Amino acid sequence: MTSLPTLSTPPRRPIRELPDELISQIAAGEVVERPASVVRELVDNALDAGATQITLRLQAGGVRLISVEDNGCGILRSELPNALKRHATSKIASLSDLESVGTMGFRGEALAAICSIAEVSVLTRVDTPDEPHGWLFDGRTGELQPTARATGTTVEVRELFYATPARRKFLKTDATELGHCIEAVRRHALARPDVGFAIWHEGKLVAQWRAVAGGGMDALRQRLADVLGEDFIEQAVAVSWPVDPPDDGLERLRVWGFAGVPDAARSRADWQFAYVNGRYVRDKVITHAARSAYEDVLHGHRQPVYALFVSLDPARVDVNVHPTKIEVRFRNSREVHQGVHHAVEGALAVPRSGSNAAEATTPVASPAAPAWTPPARQAPFSFAPREAEVGHRVSDVGALWGFGSGGASTGSARTDVFASPPVSASAAYAPDTVRAEPVAALAAPQPLPEGDWPLGRAIAQLQGVYILAENAHGLVVVDMHAAHERIVYERLKQQLDDQQVASQPLLIPATFSATPDEVATAEDCAGVLAELGLEVSMLSPKTLAVRAVPTTLAQGDPVELARSVLAELGQHEASTVVQRARNELLATMACHGAVRANRRLTLDEMNALLRQMEVTERSDQCNHGRPTWRQMGMKELDALFLRGR
Ligand code: ADP
Ligand code: MG
Repeated sequence: MTSLPTLSTPPRRPIRELPDELISQIAAGEVVERPASVVRELVDNALDAGATQITLRLQAGGVRLISVEDNGCGILRSELPNALKRHATSKIASLSDLESVGTMGFRGEALAAICSIAEVSVLTRVDTPDEPHGWLFDGRTGELQPTARATGTTVEVRELFYATPARRKFLKTDATELGHCIEAVRRHALARPDVGFAIWHEGKLVAQWRAVAGGGMDALRQRLADVLGEDFIEQAVAVSWPVDPPDDGLERLRVWGFAGVPDAARSRADWQFAYVNGRYVRDKVITHAARSAYEDVLHGHRQPVYALFVSLDPARVDVNVHPTKIEVRFRNSREVHQGVHHAVEGALAVPRSGSNAAEATTPVASPAAPAWTPPARQAPFSFAPREAEVGHRVSDVGALWGFGSGGASTGSARTDVFASPPVSASAAYAPDTVRAEPVAALAAPQPLPEGDWPLGRAIAQLQGVYILAENAHGLVVVDMHAAHERIVYERLKQQLDDQQVASQPLLIPATFSATPDEVATAEDCAGVLAELGLEVSMLSPKTLAVRAVPTTLAQGDPVELARSVLAELGQHEASTVVQRARNELLATMACHGAVRANRRLTLDEMNALLRQMEVTERSDQCNHGRPTWRQMGMKELDALFLRGR
């Protein structure tokens, strides 16, 4: 048997103060991981100096050279040597300043750290009559030389990690490092549409984003389109929360930006940009809140895309918890979570129409403002003014789809939408009879001019699967099962929230032979079932009878419905049908209640479905996150046929 090595006490060593150079090198280990970290710090500084144009020049992915040129305020000759010293900063002077930092930097260690691991020189000029020219400062020798330069600063960083070759070995290829550098600038660029950026690599211009005049949502939209591409903005909805912030001058939590529709989700979480008081952050609270807002519309592992800006009283967030300031700590993270969740969820819930989502929102330009000042609330695209009218009309055909609320109308527009004369019990489960009856009601005058219907006028059904409709933009194609499923789902959710799932008794109970599990669940969960509008009772130890079903699902198969609900309930603790299980349950139910493929619909039924979609939240996606409808614009159609216009 081999003996274990014995732990010997290390020899005693004296406690010494570390030399400054070494302290900076250790700090550099935290601050500078790769060229992109240097880029971020230098761009931070340029923005803090009030620059409106920032130009980067890189060589060998930033390893050989990173030069950041700005047109900011410059550094006074007398302060130049200080700028490169450890813990030297112009941004805070006291602990109380730290409570309200509005600048990107404040730790005063970036330049010193970079100096300790690379060759740094600073070329700068302040706009003052005392200094008719600029100064070139050599970080290694401390030499100062007069030079010509316009107001502003250029910091050059050469041979990164020359003094620490071990670190240099960890770097990836030039192309990869360049990619990280561009990403670092991109994060800044999204937060500051008012600043122009240009990136050169080996003498070639690799990215350029021009400063956007104005401000607010319009400027942000333009910058997002420039940086992330037109596609991003075409598939994004504007976020602005709260809807009506009180005008009391208090610095309240605000959330704004753009969130991609579920359709635009990606397999990687690489297009999730979150900012707190203008600072790019990676924050679990925000990420989780945003993802949870997509829960209902994005299933599986797809990652939503968004650029979200959170602003709050600086005293309520600690930015000094991480050397690179990329993490923050909120005093009340619950408040932030709720704000972000509501902001995104609300934006996604607004039904969109037209050929693209961005067009559908009508932003109101807000005056030029600091980048992190939230824009004035813009009016989201909304069907609201017409809701009542549409609702009234749709109510006439509500029964076609089994939307009837059993006559229990509370008078609100929302309820009206679904209100319908109670369907007689005998007619339940005889869809054809149910459908035949109210068609006459469709002759009622249509209050909304046809041309105004966002989803257009139905013209045909394709292969029993799609509804084709014509609107102002061209052709609309609707997946009828997916769309109807969402409508039924939202309807059930609403009813359950209001604690009144309308239930409809069956004249003849539907019996089925059940497993012992099913019988047990039916007994244990009678209360939950009743809440869901279902009544299932035991006829014998092996037989269950469905006696009532939710009115919304009246046209489905009661046995199938009961079986799948029992199966789901059996998996959960009856007393804790939490939000998540609840929504899954409702989704299962909705699937049973939704109109099946291959069912022939009349034009009136198709139109009824389109009108329902227009007033249903989140109707752009089915419960599984797939789109429910698509627009094919005339341009696209013309292109198909090579038809010039
Ligand atoms: P911090 O940004 O945390 O203050 P840095 O080490 O990044 O620390 O910068 C030190 C100081 O140098 C800053 O506080 C600022 O006064 C000055 N400085 C750095 N870069 C610039 C620049 N591009 N323009 C003007 N001043 C600058
Ligand atoms: Mg700094």
